[in-house]
Amino acid sequence: MAPEEEGLPPENAPRPRAPFVVVKCKDCSKEHVVFSRPATSVNCSICGAPLARPTGGRGNFLGEVVRTVA
Ligand SMILES: [Zn+2]
Repeated sequence: MAPEEEGLPPENAPRPRAPFVVVKCKDCSKEHVVFSRPATSVNCSICGAPLARPTGGRGNFLGEVVRTVA
Protein backbone atom coordinates (compact mmCIF):
# COMPACT_ATOMS: atom_id res chain seq x y z
CA MET A 1 0.00 0.00 0.00
CA ALA A 2 1.09 3.59 -0.50
CA PRO A 3 3.07 4.73 2.52
CA GLU A 4 2.46 8.41 1.85
CA GLU A 5 -0.67 10.34 2.66
CA GLU A 6 -2.93 11.14 -0.24
CA GLY A 7 -3.67 14.80 -0.60
CA LEU A 8 -0.23 16.38 -0.53
CA PRO A 9 1.67 16.40 -3.81
CA PRO A 10 5.35 15.52 -3.74
CA GLU A 11 7.37 18.69 -4.23
CA ASN A 12 9.38 17.52 -7.19
CA ALA A 13 7.14 14.93 -8.76
CA PRO A 14 6.41 15.26 -12.47
CA ARG A 15 2.93 16.64 -13.05
CA PRO A 16 1.59 15.62 -16.45
CA ARG A 17 -1.62 17.61 -16.43
CA ALA A 18 -3.72 19.36 -13.80
CA PRO A 19 -3.48 16.50 -11.36
CA PHE A 20 -4.49 18.34 -8.24
CA VAL A 21 -7.40 20.37 -7.01
CA VAL A 22 -7.75 22.57 -3.96
CA VAL A 23 -10.73 21.47 -1.91
CA LYS A 24 -12.04 23.56 0.95
CA CYS A 25 -13.39 21.59 3.88
CA LYS A 26 -17.06 22.31 4.33
CA ASP A 27 -16.79 21.93 8.09
CA CYS A 28 -13.67 23.90 9.05
CA SER A 29 -12.86 25.79 5.82
CA LYS A 30 -9.33 24.45 5.72
CA GLU A 31 -8.07 24.21 2.14
CA HIS A 32 -6.42 20.97 1.07
CA VAL A 33 -4.54 20.08 -2.08
CA VAL A 34 -6.02 16.78 -3.21
CA PHE A 35 -5.14 14.49 -6.09
CA SER A 36 -7.84 14.92 -8.70
CA ARG A 37 -8.18 11.17 -9.17
CA PRO A 38 -7.78 9.85 -5.65
CA ALA A 39 -7.28 6.13 -5.24
CA THR A 40 -8.58 6.23 -1.70
CA SER A 41 -10.92 8.44 0.29
CA VAL A 42 -9.37 11.71 1.44
CA ASN A 43 -10.35 13.24 4.75
CA CYS A 44 -9.69 16.66 6.25
CA SER A 45 -6.50 16.63 8.29
CA ILE A 46 -8.01 19.07 10.77
CA CYS A 47 -11.51 17.82 11.49
CA GLY A 48 -11.64 14.52 9.62
CA ALA A 49 -14.55 15.41 7.36
CA PRO A 50 -14.53 13.58 4.01
CA LEU A 51 -13.08 15.66 1.18
CA ALA A 52 -12.94 13.26 -1.75
CA ARG A 53 -14.00 9.76 -2.66
CA PRO A 54 -12.45 7.54 -5.32
CA THR A 55 -14.56 6.79 -8.35
CA GLY A 56 -12.02 5.09 -10.58
CA GLY A 57 -11.63 8.34 -12.49
CA ARG A 58 -11.89 11.91 -11.36
CA GLY A 59 -12.73 11.94 -7.68
CA ASN A 60 -16.07 12.81 -6.18
CA PHE A 61 -15.32 15.94 -4.16
CA LEU A 62 -17.40 16.52 -1.09
CA GLY A 63 -15.95 19.91 -0.20
CA GLU A 64 -15.85 23.05 -2.29
CA VAL A 65 -13.38 22.82 -5.20
CA VAL A 66 -11.65 26.20 -5.04
CA ARG A 67 -9.28 25.81 -7.96
CA THR A 68 -7.15 23.36 -9.85
CA VAL A 69 -3.40 23.08 -9.43
CA ALA A 70 -1.31 22.27 -12.49
ZN1 LIG B 1 -12.08 20.17 8.13
